[in-house]
Amino acid sequence: MAGIPDDEDDLDLYDGCDDDFDCYHENYDADILTGEAWCSRCQHKWIMTSEEITREIEFQAEYMRCIEEEESATAIRSTPQETKP
Ligand SMILES: [Zn+2]
Repeated sequence: MAGIPDDEDDLDLYDGCDDDFDCYHENYDADILTGEAWCSRCQHKWIMTSEEITREIEFQAEYMRCIEEEESATAIRSTPQETKP
């Protein structure tokens, strides 16, 4: 006798289509030029505080640094004759 009913699984179906969820806008895209940010999850849009913009600039600088490191590592591997500036 399996004592666990399937009812609990049905609750999970609401996760995908519930507009009333708590979103903390942790996954957002930001435009540091206009100071606008929008949540990629709930599409909420807002103007960032200068503190948030500063954090975003630092984050993007760090991100670009990682991309450049990865690209130069890939470039060395794929095109050995590439000249660096
Ligand atoms: Zn959100």
